[in-house]
Order: sequence, then structure tokens, then C-alpha cells
Amino acid sequence: APVLTMQSVDKVFGGETVALRGMNLAVNEGDFISLLGPSGCGKSTALRLIAGLMAPTAGRIDWAGGQTHGDLGVVFQEPTLMPWATVARNVWLPFRLRGQSYHAVKDEIREALSLVGLENFANAYPRELSGGMKMRVSIARAMVTRPRLILMDEPFAALDEITRHKLNTDLLALRDKIGCTVIFVTHSVFESVFLSDRIVVMAARPGRVIRELQVDEPYPRG
Ligand code: ADP
Ligand code: ADP
Repeated sequence: APVLTMQSVDKVFGGETVALRGMNLAVNEGDFISLLGPSGCGKSTALRLIAGLMAPTAGRIDWAGGQTHGDLGVVFQEPTLMPWATVARNVWLPFRLRGQSYHAVKDEIREALSLVGLENFANAYPRELSGGMKMRVSIARAMVTRPRLILMDEPFAALDEITRHKLNTDLLALRDKIGCTVIFVTHSVFESVFLSDRIVVMAARPGRVIRELQVDEPYPRG
């Protein structure tokens, strides 16, 4: 089923910087799409447009059936956890923003932490966690409400290569388990091939899509 489409989307900053020109994208339920390209090709701009953080200069972005509250989960390169709150309270945040009490969603929080392998860290504070573990908390927080679409903006770029590979492997397993739909921004060719079904290759100046590749053979798992 379709989730979201972008049709001929342009984003121009200050009347002259063409961050994105003529972008088309169709996201279907269960897709894992990578946006791959060098710095400045408009990857973050595309994500920010999809997230509704700014409006396109031209073109359309449409959610199938309209956008409802809680359609999106977002994971940034910086885990942006609240340092004064426990891991479980951090994962509660998207529910809290919808006015749902912690106690009403305790099971969902426990389930999300278990999916990222942190079931024993619910009461820990962010400062007690490694970089990789903080990123796992951030992923749990993005998926705890089971949003229709999860956006990931170079989530593992700041981690060492070994931790990063472990997280990529676990992300695939997680996706197999809960069937989430993901747009993943990266400038790593390996990461895009390892993770995605579809790679959207972009180029800079102006930011644009130059090719869309289907990854036919899934990367061997397990
Ligand atoms: P990427 O994420 O692929 O590195 P970006 O989407 O951040 O690319 O940027 C695409 C282009 O738009 C770049 O030339 C960048 O300098 C420019 N740009 C991005 N955000 C802004 C902004 N808020 N104001 C002006 N120019 C911007
Ligand atoms: P990094 O600091 O590079 O992000 P990791 O995320 O792999 O490294 O974690 C570093 C240490 O934190 C590990 O050696 C391990 O002891 C502990 N750790 C990480 N994840 C877990 C987990 N799910 N359960 C228990 N301990 C963990």
C-alpha cells in the first residue's frame, strides 16, 4: 500500500540555492529506501520536507489518506536524549506528546526496548550508556508508537565502524520483526546496499535524483 509520494518537488533557499530540483519518490508500506549521495545533494532537505519541517518551493508531498498525528518517527545522527530522564522515560516521549501517560504505555515501552536489546537498561540514564546504546534508545523511541514512516538521517555516522555494522545488522532484523517503512539517509554505498530494497542516488548543485536502483537480491541475513 502507498504511504507517501513526492511529485516534482523543488526546494530553493534564498531565491538562489537549488537544494532540490524535481524530486519524485513513491514510498510503499514496508519499503526500506536509502537516499545516497555526497554532501549538499539535498538528502537532509528531502527529509525535512517529508517531515513537514518546511514547505516545498514547488511540487507536492502527499500522504496516502492524509497525514495524521503520529505518522512519523525520526532518528537523527545525534541521539538527542533528555539527560535528566531514564531510558524508559525517554522512549515514552512520543506518547507523552500525544497526552498518553507513562503507565498506560509501559508495555509498549518495554517491548520497544526489548526489540533493540536494551530491556535491562530501562532505568539507566543516558550518561551511563555507550554511543551505540544511545542510538538504540533513539531507534526505540522512533518506533515505539509504530509510525507509518521512520526517517533516519545518517543515524550511525558518528559511531565506530564495528558498532555501526552491528547496528545495521540489528536494524535489518528489527525490520523483519516489525515490518516498518524506512527512509534512510547515508553517504555510504555499503550501508545503502546492505540495508535497502531501493537506493535513490542523488547528486549536488543542484540537488537532484540521478538514478533509482532496485536491490533485487536481499543481503544475506543472520
Ligand atoms: P545533504 O543533506 O545531502 O548534505 P542538504 O539538504 O543539507 O544536503 O543541502 C542541500 C543544499 O542546500 C546545499 O547546497 C546546502 O548548502 C543548501 N541548504 C540546506 N539548507 C539550507 C538553508 N537552510 N539555507 C540555505 N541553504 C541551505
Ligand atoms: P560503543 O561505545 O562503541 O557505542 P557498544 O554500543 O557496542 O559500543 O557498547 C559498549 C559496551 O556497552 C559493550 O562492551 C557492552 O558491555 C555494553 N553494552 C552495549 N549494549 C549492551 C546491551 N544490549 N546489553 C548489555 N550491555 C551492553
